[in-house]
Amino acid sequence: MTQIQPEHLNPLDSMKERFSNAAKILGIDQMTYDMLINPQKVVIVSLPVILDDGKLKVFEGIRVVHSASMGPSKGGIRYSMNVTLDEVKALAAWMTWKCAVVGIPYGGAKGGIKCDPRNMSDGELERLTRSYTAAMQDVFGPDRDIPAPDMGTNQQTMAWIMDEYSKIKGISSPAVVTGKPLVLGGSLGRVEATGRGVMVTTRSAMAKLKMDPQNCTCAVQGFGNVGSISAKLLAMQGLKIVAISDVTGGYYKKDGINVEEAIEYVLKNNGTLEGFNADRITNEELLTLSVDVLVPAAMEDQITDDNAHAIKAKLIVEGANGPIASNADKILHKNNINIIPDILANAGGVSVSYFEWVQNRLGYYWTEERVNRRADRVMKQAFDTVYLASQKYDVSMRTAAYIVAIDKVASTQKLRGVF
Ligand code: NAD
Repeated sequence: MTQIQPEHLNPLDSMKERFSNAAKILGIDQMTYDMLINPQKVVIVSLPVILDDGKLKVFEGIRVVHSASMGPSKGGIRYSMNVTLDEVKALAAWMTWKCAVVGIPYGGAKGGIKCDPRNMSDGELERLTRSYTAAMQDVFGPDRDIPAPDMGTNQQTMAWIMDEYSKIKGISSPAVVTGKPLVLGGSLGRVEATGRGVMVTTRSAMAKLKMDPQNCTCAVQGFGNVGSISAKLLAMQGLKIVAISDVTGGYYKKDGINVEEAIEYVLKNNGTLEGFNADRITNEELLTLSVDVLVPAAMEDQITDDNAHAIKAKLIVEGANGPIASNADKILHKNNINIIPDILANAGGVSVSYFEWVQNRLGYYWTEERVNRRADRVMKQAFDTVYLASQKYDVSMRTAAYIVAIDKVASTQKLRGVF
């Protein structure tokens, strides 16, 4: 297993540095700056859970609401041993900027529990999730704060949250959480939404860069929800996926990987690519392959000032949140590597989460075709807006995305006033 999150990096520093760059260009005043760089609410709870062996273990649960200026706050819940408060704060802020970039009426939040979900039974995970929901019953709410899945959580986790919250409040409340199973009010198209947004924005960028998908190769780091669906949809657009990876390492085939086959393999193989028939490489090697498009879709801080100089891709599409540390930005920029930033590239998920919430509140459910059509339109429009801003201000797509987002949130904050 490759441990790839260097100790000295902190995603919150990356978020703050990029926020500050864009805020400076926009010329926002100090008061607005201070309000937007700090989270509005940080809640930390102790979660006692009886494990299967009868022993009690107390977990720490975090929920950070970065901003609720644009509407109820929205953001996933992460179960991972790497969860830290700073990481959750960074992810919460990214949700604010992401929702603003795609123009959906939400603020940003994120949750996390430090645990190892792969080594916990379903019963333990259910007790942990219900305990977290009970502890957060006055934080969550369809008009307050709406969780969703993230690393280590899935539809089942969302079903437990919906059930526990509904029981506590004595009402059926599907809109308290998104990413639910279909039968509980989930939306068609939600599972594929983030990968689909990655594909749509990649196509838009490739058109601007005059890259023909039929003649391009691609490597994808991470083969969970975002990585596997991105790889599948990009392959359907004609890109040759030469490498994929997960927590067990990297898998390379010069002539292209059959992504559907790899997805089937993972389903039958306890959720990992271990043993998949391809040349073995490391996660680090995958990042520096000679490919046209690189999609880091695993976790934060994969590309840093340590390896940025070795990146050969022409286009990097940030499927994960924060996969490029801010200390790598200058190096990549100098080497003319184009980047579709996370707050744009992976915003397809939260866009369809918004559609799920809208459908729950209407009690009226859309076809998959309608969901995809509307989500594609949101993603294309967001790409065009950010692209135009990058031309107007003569900045990278990343800085442009922050400019678009901060401008919207800052002007809303001004109208609402300060208390
Ligand atoms: P997931 O849990 O479904 O998949 C994560 C994948 O990354 C797995 O294949 C795992 O094996 C792999 N991985 C974990 N540690 C790794 C390591 N050290 N090296 C290489 N691979 C590693 O998670 P996901 O939902 O696909 O999320 C991936 C990223 O995308 C996260 O940054 C998440 O915040 C972001 N994201 C997810 C969504 C969504 O809708 N799921 C939306 C926006 C952003």
